[in-house]
Amino acid sequence: MTVATTVTATTVTAVEAATASETAACAGLDERIRRNPGAHRVLTGDRPTGPLHLGHYFGTLQNRVRLQRLGVEMFVVVADYQVITDRDIADRLSEHAENLVLDYLATGLDPDRATIFAHSAVPALNQLLLPFLSLVSVSELSRNPTVKDEIAHSRQSAVSGLMFTYPVHQAADILFCKADVVPVGQDQLPHLEVARTVARRFNERYPHPDGTAVFPRPEGLLSAAPLLLGTDGTKMSKSRGNAVALAADEDTTARLIRSAKTDTERRISYDPATRPEVSSLVLLAALCQDRRPEEVAEEIGDGGGAALKRTVTEAVNEHLRPIRALRADLAADRGYVRQVLRDGAERANAVADATLDEVRAVMGSV
Ligand code: ATP
Ligand code: MG
Repeated sequence: MTVATTVTATTVTAVEAATASETAACAGLDERIRRNPGAHRVLTGDRPTGPLHLGHYFGTLQNRVRLQRLGVEMFVVVADYQVITDRDIADRLSEHAENLVLDYLATGLDPDRATIFAHSAVPALNQLLLPFLSLVSVSELSRNPTVKDEIAHSRQSAVSGLMFTYPVHQAADILFCKADVVPVGQDQLPHLEVARTVARRFNERYPHPDGTAVFPRPEGLLSAAPLLLGTDGTKMSKSRGNAVALAADEDTTARLIRSAKTDTERRISYDPATRPEVSSLVLLAALCQDRRPEEVAEEIGDGGGAALKRTVTEAVNEHLRPIRALRADLAADRGYVRQVLRDGAERANAVADATLDEVRAVMGSV
């Protein structure tokens, strides 16, 4: 399946909430990567807070696999420390982390080419947080719209300090390996802005003696589905109980899609601005079938929400069948999954140690 592989003129219409300039920036970045994949490095990741879902798959996972196939070097962080930004305890952490790795492997990430590691296994990465925190103000952190949204959906009665420093921690994730490309969903763009600010201020304050910069300028890469909606009509999220997991069985998938919010208009159309829930479902079917969303909507016509949901269910189940089968095979060997994380941690530690040495040197703290 080739859909969502480039942010082209067709996919621009499918981009729901991304602004025209964000979309144009992604198209430009995509073009530069395709011209010279070896000149770029990717960092992406997910919190081990539950099973990955369709939002992850069409929002970032497909893009990661495509970039890997292009030959771009890739680091993937299982962001275990970030689980406790909005929860008191990290529940079933190692189980979620291993499931995350299974989802990665089943969707096509190759551990020989991608460095897959957990935050907590790479101490030098986390140390970057200290100098980085000195580069941003408290008011900048409290203005971050994604932090505000996550606070609104948080399970904690009080907002933790880690929640506010989350974007700076993410800057450390990205910059420890000097990544310049970050395939993300729409919600992460404000965090990317923080990472760019941190990189720019660090480079200005602490240049190398020859004047060169320590860090690159990281850019977010959106897919054709930067904000897939969940069954309740808000962003599909692991923690909002509105997600269809990649690993769900076909009946569960059917039940969840049947429960998805739509509207009362019988004629199905693709109009993300005025009919977000229906359009997100149409887009989902289109992505699975490698078709244009307008064409899918036209075909369902006056069939109403029930026909739309039948189409989406069949499309999702069919598209995910080989991925789910591979995942079930891989799940039989947990030892292999743990080995992937150990190998990844070894490679990530070497890179993080080198970056931290460089940071200490330019800061004069050696
Ligand atoms: P949580 O509810 O625990 O925050 P989540 O579902 O939001 O989980 P994250 O681990 O926070 O998942 O996000 C991992 C990556 O997946 C990010 O790049 C994020 O932008 C992307 N992503 C998550 N949900 C969606 C979605 N509904 N549509 C597109 N991209 C998404
Ligand atoms: Mg999230």
